[in-house]
Parts: sequence; C-alpha cells; structure tokens
Amino acid sequence: MPHNLVQLSPFDVHNQQLEANVHPPGWKNPTPKQPYHLVVIGAGTAGLVTAAGAAGLGARVALIERELMGGDCLNVGCVPSKGIIRAARVAATVRDSQVFGVDVTAGAAFNFGKAMERMRRLRTRISPNDSAKRFSEMGIDVFFGQGAFVDDRTVSVTCRDGSVSELKFRRAVIATGARASAPPIPGLDSVKYLTNENLFSLTELPRRFGVIGSGPIGCEMAQAFGRFGSDVVLFERGDRLLTREDPDASAVLQKEFERDRIRLMLNSDHMQLSPVDDGSICVSIVQNGIKRKTVVDQLLVAVGRAPNIDGLNLPAVNVQADRSGVEVNDHLLTTNPRIFAAGDICSKYKFTHAADFQARIVIQNALFALGPFGKKKASNLIIPWTTYTSPEVAHVGLYEHEAKAAGVLVDVYIQELADVDRAILEGQDEGFVKVLTKQGTDKIVGATIVAENAGDLISEITLAMSNKIGLSKIGATIHPYPTQAEAIRKLGDQVNRTKLTPLARKVLNLLRRINVGS
Ligand SMILES: Cc1cc2nc3c(=O)[nH]c(=O)nc-3n(C[C@H](O)[C@H](O)[C@H](O)COP(=O)(O)OP(=O)(O)OC[C@H]3O[C@@H](n4cnc5c(N)ncnc54)[C@H](O)[C@@H]3O)c2cc1C
Repeated sequence: MPHNLVQLSPFDVHNQQLEANVHPPGWKNPTPKQPYHLVVIGAGTAGLVTAAGAAGLGARVALIERELMGGDCLNVGCVPSKGIIRAARVAATVRDSQVFGVDVTAGAAFNFGKAMERMRRLRTRISPNDSAKRFSEMGIDVFFGQGAFVDDRTVSVTCRDGSVSELKFRRAVIATGARASAPPIPGLDSVKYLTNENLFSLTELPRRFGVIGSGPIGCEMAQAFGRFGSDVVLFERGDRLLTREDPDASAVLQKEFERDRIRLMLNSDHMQLSPVDDGSICVSIVQNGIKRKTVVDQLLVAVGRAPNIDGLNLPAVNVQADRSGVEVNDHLLTTNPRIFAAGDICSKYKFTHAADFQARIVIQNALFALGPFGKKKASNLIIPWTTYTSPEVAHVGLYEHEAKAAGVLVDVYIQELADVDRAILEGQDEGFVKVLTKQGTDKIVGATIVAENAGDLISEITLAMSNKIGLSKIGATIHPYPTQAEAIRKLGDQVNRTKLTPLARKVLNLLRRINVGS
C-alpha cells in the first residue's frame, strides 16, 4: 500500500517550492542499477547522511523516501519549531521591552500568520540541502515510494501510482525515523488533535491552546504559543516539567513558564478527551484528587515517539523490532548481518545530530570495516542535547541520579548565572551551569546548563569531555569578558581553588617570603 503523503499546508509559494525540492511532483524514479552497495530506506537526517557519505566514498547507493526528503527535522521538526521559537522570543522581548526603557507595547501587535509565513519561507530556503536534485547530482539513485524488504538481498519500492521497483543490495540501512505516538487516552480518537505533523500548518492563532506532555516538544511549543498570545494549558502526568532533566533545570523553567502565564497542570491523571459542539476539545483530568475540565480550541499531543516500522516487512529479513524501534548492537547492526539502522528508528537519543553521527558509524561499519577491524561503536558517541525554551536547557553526559545509580562518585560544581556579569546585563540571569566531575579529579562526567543560549554553551563542555580536557584547563583558558561562557570558566576556577591544599599554601607563602619578605 502506498503511504499517504504529509500535507504541506497552506500550499503557498513557499510550500510549493519546498515540495519541488523534497518531493518533486512528476519525479521519475531511475531504473535500478544491480546490485547497490547500499540501499538506504528513509531520507531524513540519518538516511541523507548515510547516502551522501557512502556515495562520496565511491559506493553505488539508492535512497528511498515515501514522503518528504529531509524527514522530520526539515519538514515538521527542528527547522519549523526553531523558526517559530525565534518569533516567540521577539514577542517576549517586545512584551518585556519597558524594562529596557523601550515602550512599544501600546503599538505592538503580533501577527501569527506572518510569523508562520516567515517559518515556511526559511524552511524552504534551507531545503535545497536535502533536495532530490542535490542528492541525484551526488550520483545517488533517489526513489520516491514506500520501501519494504522482500528478502535479505532485495528491497521493493511501491510508488503512489502502484508501480513497484525491486532494488538488489549488498547492505541496507533502515533510517525510517519515528512519528508522534498516539497515547491510550480515552476519547483521543473522537477529537481532532494536533501533532508535529500538522501543527506547523496552522494559519490562525488558537485562542486556547492545550498541550499534552511536557517533554522538549511540549515545552517548546507551549512557551512559543503562550508568547504569541494564546491561553496555554500544559498537561503533565509527572510533578515537574522536563521530567528527564535535572530537577533544578525544571524549577527554573517552571518559574519562567509562570511568567509567560502558561497554566501548568502537573500531576494530571485519568485524562479523558471529548469533542465540544463548536469544534473545541474538552480535556478532563483528575489533579491531586480533584476533577478538572478545561476546554481548548487546539490540542497538541506530544507524548513520545513511535518507530516507523509499518510496511517495512521486517519479518522477511529477520530484523527484530518492538515498540521502541529496531534492535541494533553497538555497531548499529540489526539482527540481520546485512542490514544496519541509524537515527530515531533505533536510538534512544532522538536528535538530528545523533542521527547524523550514527549514520557516519554505519557508513564505516557497513562498507569499510574488515571483520572486527575498523568497526566503530555507537556507545563511544558523547551526545549533548538541548530543549530550546527560554531559557534553554542543555545537557551532556551523566545526571547526578545516573552517576549515583552507576556507583560513580562525583563532585558537583555549580555556577549561578546571577553571578555572571553578562547574564545580569542581558537580563538573562535565571539559570546555572552545573558540572559533575569524577570525585577528587577535574574529569568531567556530565553537565547541565540552563541559560538563554545553553545549546551553544554546552559544546565547550562536550569538546572537553570528548577530548579528555579537565575542568581546571577550562578555568585556565581565557574567555572574553563579559560573556555568558565565563560561567563555565568560573567553574574551572572553583576546581582550581580546591587544589590549594595546606601544603601548597605553605609553599606559596615560602616563595613569597623569599621574593618580597614577610
Ligand atoms: C517538533 C520536533 C522538534 C524537534 N526539534 C529538534 C531539535 O531542535 N534538535 C534535534 O536535534 N532534534 C529535534 N527533533 C528530532 C529530530 O527531528 C529527529 O531526531 C530526526 O529527524 C531523526 O532523523 P531520522 O533520519 O532518524 O528520522 P526522520 O527525520 O523521521 O526521517 C525518516 C524518514 O524516513 C521516511 N520513511 C519512513 N518509513 C519509510 C518507508 N517504509 N519507506 C520509505 N521512507 C520511509 C520518512 O518519511 C522520513 O522522511 C525534533 C523533532 C520534532 C518532532
């Protein structure tokens, strides 16, 4: 069965051009070459990076996409979400402008349609990187249609017109990603709800906007729509936002959400949904033993991701998969020795940069490793991540609870942004940098940063961890004044101060006396 194409809506000049780039109408699939060194199913980040890297190194590659090249990230994920988050930040700056002595509030009006149009324009501007034209010009055979395994040397591609091509492969890569999962909430099927697949098609700002789930997508979108002017209600089953992150980070974010006038419904239990006659949606919950009903005009469901394994015919090739995705070993090999996987389909790290670096591992392991020699391991990747709220929440390595569970003794260094000059001057002093080092050493094992640009700041720590640079060396590195990155340098100073043992102090006193007397 051909798969239904994601609707690019509104189908304006930007979306028409986007479609022309990432699923050109009238595209003719090439005649298959026999056999391909590598057949890649799915042209999101993982598939694109695998195909481009392998073709660049001389392999004969076919790439199959059933919807839009660029996958979630370009079309319905990172790119559109960060596009509208930028608009939300501007809206918040205008809202708070009086404090800077700029009073524009009387004349300020937010135009949701324009903000969404800007997002569509920029998404289209970025899209040539992921386009069918670009990948064909790299020598890759690009096929549009549903990919499925026939046997462990053949993949079929079923086009929307029903025609089928068969591609022979020596190695195959499953890079089919994930989509929003539909949680078992009573009444979910009876209402028209939003997921990341249709959220970015909105053209009118909902007056009342509900969000289920306070993970990264839920938090980012709740805050953005709150800043646009919707009355936002965020439902979360747990007792804090971003339950996977450091509790101190959740606390800072919660304060900021209250400032953004987002209604937080933490500890929401026994949820039920029902349609209301005027097209709105009633969300019933029990919160701390009390029944509550809230009516919203649009409801975003953002509670986890489900792997795209439908229609792949995995049993034909003995590839094991379950609700969390395709099973792979540390070399990203599936349970079939010819078939690898990369990206959201097999990874607990559902991020574009993780998909990118897993794809690089697959290229090496599928095409260039000789037996056990030259094989790369996914577990060696040090993967940071960021939730793009205001302030951003970025993390790398271990959390305190993980270190404890793993029996890793740690020292915890914290620098509050309230003591960082640049953060104060910018009015962005809610947040912190927290670094965990192996106890008694300066070896970094994890970090959380909560800051307006935490996603950029975390790279300094990731670089240090990847290259075994200790926190004291960061303390000895000159950072420009005033910058928010000084928060990280100051933590290095904290570590260096712990090195001032009584003996070191005595030696310094002696040297001083020799040089300048007592
Ligand atoms: C709202 C949102 C915001 C996000 N923001 C960020 C962010 O800021 N930073 C970040 O790092 N990550 C972010 N992510 C996550 C990021 O989008 C994913 O981690 C990334 O897209 C994974 O890439 P992938 O190649 O594994 O899968 P995908 O991007 O999902 O690509 C898989 C592709 O395979 C195709 N496909 C599936 N089945 C078949 C089949 N049988 N035959 C042919 N084709 C098939 C699909 O159509 C799709 O194009 C966000 C996600 C969402 C939803």
